[in-house]
Amino acid sequence: MSAQKVLNLIQEHNIEFVDFRFVDLAGRAHHITLPATEVDADTFVNGVAFDGSSIVGFRGIEESDMVMMPDAETAYVDPFTAHATLIVMSNIHTPDGDRYERDPRSIAHKAEEYLQKSGVGTDAFFAPESEFFIFDDVRYESTMNSSSFFVDSEEASWNTNRKEEGGNLGFKIRTKGGYVPVAPVDAQQDIRSEMVRLMQETGLRVERHHHEVATAGQAEINFRFDTLTKTADNLMKYKYIIHNVARQYGKVATFMPKPLFGDNGSGMHVHTSIFNGDTPLFYEKGAYANLSQMALNFIGGILYHAPALIAITNPSTNSFKRLVPGYEAPVNLVYSKGNRSAAVRIPVAAVTPKGCRVEFRTPDSTANPYLAFAAMLMAGLDGIKRKLDPEALGYGPFDKNIYELSDDEKKEIRSVPGTLDEALDALEADSDFLTEGGVFTKEFIDNYVGVKRAEAKAVAIRIHPHEYGLYFDC
Ligand code: GLN
Ligand code: MG
Ligand code: MG
Ligand code: MG
Repeated sequence: MSAQKVLNLIQEHNIEFVDFRFVDLAGRAHHITLPATEVDADTFVNGVAFDGSSIVGFRGIEESDMVMMPDAETAYVDPFTAHATLIVMSNIHTPDGDRYERDPRSIAHKAEEYLQKSGVGTDAFFAPESEFFIFDDVRYESTMNSSSFFVDSEEASWNTNRKEEGGNLGFKIRTKGGYVPVAPVDAQQDIRSEMVRLMQETGLRVERHHHEVATAGQAEINFRFDTLTKTADNLMKYKYIIHNVARQYGKVATFMPKPLFGDNGSGMHVHTSIFNGDTPLFYEKGAYANLSQMALNFIGGILYHAPALIAITNPSTNSFKRLVPGYEAPVNLVYSKGNRSAAVRIPVAAVTPKGCRVEFRTPDSTANPYLAFAAMLMAGLDGIKRKLDPEALGYGPFDKNIYELSDDEKKEIRSVPGTLDEALDALEADSDFLTEGGVFTKEFIDNYVGVKRAEAKAVAIRIHPHEYGLYFDC
């Protein structure tokens, strides 16, 4: 879509405002809005200025001027504003006109170019399954009701002396009892359907939606795969719509990986495959899970680099509270067909040659999707380049329930890092696969690690509620 097409859209839809957006290091969208009367072909050449020093992880105050260069291709009409508004995602440039090396979209584009230059294939496709919770919003309700954030079902003894605000108002669905029951147990059909309707209206191709396993209103909506940057853009739109429909219903949606202790967390499983033109390169009929050698080497790269990769795909302190046994979140660095306790699963039900793909189950939605998909691609491409064989490296295939193995069997299996700091240590020790071809820069990684270390420290120095149960009466 050219700038002219955007200008035509402005005419067609009587657009009053154009909302220019960019993405920060954490994967949050930011925006500056111009009256449509101020937008013309020059806006697409000169861009829109903003202050980069006020965005966490971007520039210092002494070199703060930055420019948003709109990507006309991404334009869609905002379904939430009272005044007709067109949203346009932008790339970030420096005042000299160069692409800003910390702009997540720039890294996503560089990863796609790197794939093409590598000769492996033309396109990598991605499809995230981004789970989330819909909670009552305490901004709209005077007291929180029975789905309290702080009820910890496995260690109820800690709670015996605590009065639940508002009382226990009635029947509660059992822990992990949320997977696809019909209404009235599923009380969120309408809100999810409204989310889907607006996703379709804004150009996302939605395939399905359902209530997820966790009791307290966990949901998942699946939209169709696309190429790397487009899928990350789609995920930004997905989250924007989910957050705002929830708000319209007086609720709040969260993508936090583990908001409730003792119930399932929210993951963002990511499905990937590589094509050369129309030819799927991950498929080989009759092989293990119908996977080609290239797909196996891609898996080898993902699992080999996983400890470092996870610093980007699971970049919050809360991420590691999800990655514990017993909640369908992967803990073990193995691959398997069908097995949901493995970090890499190869879906085998209803899979066509073109649909043959690898599912990395570790990521969660605190990941910046541009960085996460780019890092996954870089890990997989390194596996292909170095012919990393996942079986020879001891990563499986493992078709048993890994949660139920004996201690001896478990010893053989490597685990995901236990904390954000451990993942950051791994990233510091293993980042060459990311800086290959200049896709991520060393400077970017150092800055990223610094920002994330500060987050981990900020959490670690605070007093945790659980510490009162353990130590208060000492
Ligand atoms: N919520 C689980 C996770 O944390 C996944 C559950 C599922 O999709 N089967 O990854
Ligand atoms: Mg799913
Ligand atoms: Mg799911
Ligand atoms: Mg899945």
